[in-house]
Amino acid sequence: MSWDFTTEPEFQAKLDWVNAFVREEVEPLDLVWPGDNYKPLDDAHRRIVDPLKQRVREQGLWACHLGPELGGPGYGQLKLAMLNEILGRSIWGPVIFGTQAPDTGNAEILAHFGTEAQKKTYLQPLLDGEIFSCFSMTEPQGGADPATFETEAVRDGDGWVLNGWKFFSSNARWAEFLIVMAWTNRDAGLHGGMSMFLVPTSTPGVVIERNVGLIGESEEEGAHALIHYDNVRVPLDAVLGGEGKAFHVAQTRLGGGRVHHAMRTVGNCQRALDMLCERALSRTTKGSRLADKQLVQSYIAESYSELTQFRLFVLYTAWQIDHYQDYSKVKKDIAAIKVLTPKVLHSILYRSMQVHGALGTSNELPLARMWARDLPSMSIADGPSEVHAVTVAREVLKGYEPAPGMWPTDHLPSNLEAARTKLGV
Ligand SMILES: Cc1cc2nc3c(=O)[nH]c(=O)nc-3n(C[C@H](O)[C@H](O)[C@H](O)COP(=O)(O)OP(=O)(O)OC[C@H]3O[C@@H](n4cnc5c(N)ncnc54)[C@H](O)[C@@H]3O)c2cc1C
Repeated sequence: MSWDFTTEPEFQAKLDWVNAFVREEVEPLDLVWPGDNYKPLDDAHRRIVDPLKQRVREQGLWACHLGPELGGPGYGQLKLAMLNEILGRSIWGPVIFGTQAPDTGNAEILAHFGTEAQKKTYLQPLLDGEIFSCFSMTEPQGGADPATFETEAVRDGDGWVLNGWKFFSSNARWAEFLIVMAWTNRDAGLHGGMSMFLVPTSTPGVVIERNVGLIGESEEEGAHALIHYDNVRVPLDAVLGGEGKAFHVAQTRLGGGRVHHAMRTVGNCQRALDMLCERALSRTTKGSRLADKQLVQSYIAESYSELTQFRLFVLYTAWQIDHYQDYSKVKKDIAAIKVLTPKVLHSILYRSMQVHGALGTSNELPLARMWARDLPSMSIADGPSEVHAVTVAREVLKGYEPAPGMWPTDHLPSNLEAARTKLGV
């Protein structure tokens, strides 16, 4: 019997180091440069950021999502989840540790499917944290249903020519390259007719029409590009993983990414709960502390319980991925935590803001950013919650059969008769 909820002491020591390092050294960057984390480094940023990355490397914690063959420690999803719980508190945390989305997933794609030349030009600098990348799949007319996509690549001599529009391509404005999904053979249907292309952002015909901002951001701050691929010519080897293999390629990046998002959200929820508790102990009204009011105690108890349930579910999902080494076997739970992520964040964040009163509605607390920017995105990015809920239901139903007769198998009157016969009473 092995069923253990403890963290091995050596790794706990690493987590303790990360916790202190993020709070003391990385969170100050969030305050002075909140929107710069994906921008290529200028000298002023590099002077501060490079030594921090170096300290992470010295701890053997750089790019922990990668196996040793790619320069990472190969920790697996469970340890990665615990690390992401801490990094999730901070805007700059993932960049300083070399684990920021979408670069983690794009690096995995290049590692699996890139040519040696592509790896040298793009993968190595990406792993070194010197460049950024973009995953360009969603289109203006549809994201959740790839059947609505229109971007097309046509073979032309010694290359391919791409035409179409993509929407919400995060970080394209700072990306060195884009990974673009396009039809290559509509007759082959979705799972054989779409291919994934490596497109350098500087290729003629890649036109960023505008950078869409999230709620509260101006267009100057926006990072989610509307891109026109206008007769973009790429060589034959720009097809990653072979013609018609877009979904196979996409799968290599999504499973782990969802666990990381969920665990970063656990970190944010914990921060919101910490703030709630501190406020409840600090504020007095009508003769007693907020912490002494039963309704506020109920907020604390519910938040703690919801967060603990969610955290254990995410860790269990990460453990299953390590155990089975096969994302498809953990599909149901990966989808379930994706659905839960915005719900848990919403309920804990809401209570924390409420207990902070007017201050909670202001832009003077980190809660504001989580509420306006993170929360709505959580149930949309990487696919809407509804779509993941369908996956959960479909997977759950695989374990069931229709009732054999007119009544449910747990119908008491029918079963009473059978029980009497069995017991002879
Ligand atoms: C912050 C952020 C970053 C993103 N980054 C990227 C990126 O880097 N690259 C990229 O390609 N895309 C990115 N996206 C886009 C994201 O993947 C899509 O927004 C998502 O797949 C949904 O597509 P859509 O917005 O077109 O909504 P639609 O597909 O139009 O869906 C709209 C709504 O319809 C409902 N719905 C849809 N399908 C179903 C269904 N089957 N059953 C029931 N209801 C349904 C849901 O309520 C859904 O929210 C990002 C999105 C966000 C918010």
